[in-house]
Amino acid sequence: PAEQLRKPEWIRAAFRGTKSVRQLTGTLRENRLHTVCEEANCPNLGECFNHGTATFMIMGAICTRRCPFCDVGHGRPLPLDADEPKNLAETVVGMRLKYVVITSVDRDDLRDGGAQHFADCIREVRAANPGITVEVLTPDFRGRVELALDLLTAEPPDVFNHNIETVPRLYREVRPGADYEHSLDLLAAFKARRPEVATKSGLMLGVGETREEIEATLADLRAHKVDMVTIGQYLQPSLHHLPVRRYVTPAEFDELRVVGEKMGFRHVASGPMVRSSYHADLQARGVIGG
Ligand code: SF4
Ligand code: SF4
Repeated sequence: PAEQLRKPEWIRAAFRGTKSVRQLTGTLRENRLHTVCEEANCPNLGECFNHGTATFMIMGAICTRRCPFCDVGHGRPLPLDADEPKNLAETVVGMRLKYVVITSVDRDDLRDGGAQHFADCIREVRAANPGITVEVLTPDFRGRVELALDLLTAEPPDVFNHNIETVPRLYREVRPGADYEHSLDLLAAFKARRPEVATKSGLMLGVGETREEIEATLADLRAHKVDMVTIGQYLQPSLHHLPVRRYVTPAEFDELRVVGEKMGFRHVASGPMVRSSYHADLQARGVIGG
């Protein structure tokens, strides 16, 4: 069954660099920082950078887990870079960003899963960039949730995002090492402690889920008080990754947006090229204060 599905015409090609983006990426390299936007060759890159949005990957590019849909390297991560929070803050100034998404690999090797480092990054970015909006897209902090929540709710972001990724039946195959209920509980626990912070999650479609399962997962997210959701098409980063089992049509993405809105999400971004940070600034408008 390794036959590859043909890409439909609504799937946009990877982004090809422009001069202004190359200048930005130069600044990034000088500061030893990485964006998911570049690493994933995200097709939305030009649009996002020009809108003043970027997604930074902190704590290195080596993950302690190995999800078959993900293109990040895995193995033993390097020690944390204590200068990273300040470097990040200055880079955000240099790029004149208005909306920053901070994400990371899983750091199951760290006692707090990297929560303190996240908090340090939030604090430094805010200090150097008055008026900025900060979203964090976090790992699941399995085994150290209480500690991670203590640290993160002490330095809260504007948006707390944790992706559920797929439906529970596919977890073993798609998110080994993760647990569906645990991820739902993490979102609910953050909300319970910081009700004023918007919570957000995301699903990637096309890995074998059914329509009923998608809707059940959306209902679960809503039942765990998640405010915003993103729904996008999974694209296979290489032939060695999980295959795409289905390309969901733009019409079905539209239907799912309506389904989500009826369930009571305050914002639903649903479309083939939607990623958790795509137009994150627009997603958050009207949901978070200001
Ligand atoms: Fe970066 Fe996310 Fe925009 Fe892609 S959608 S360019 S990863 S901010
Ligand atoms: Fe990729 Fe996150 Fe899975 Fe690590 S935990 S392999 S970064 S999706």
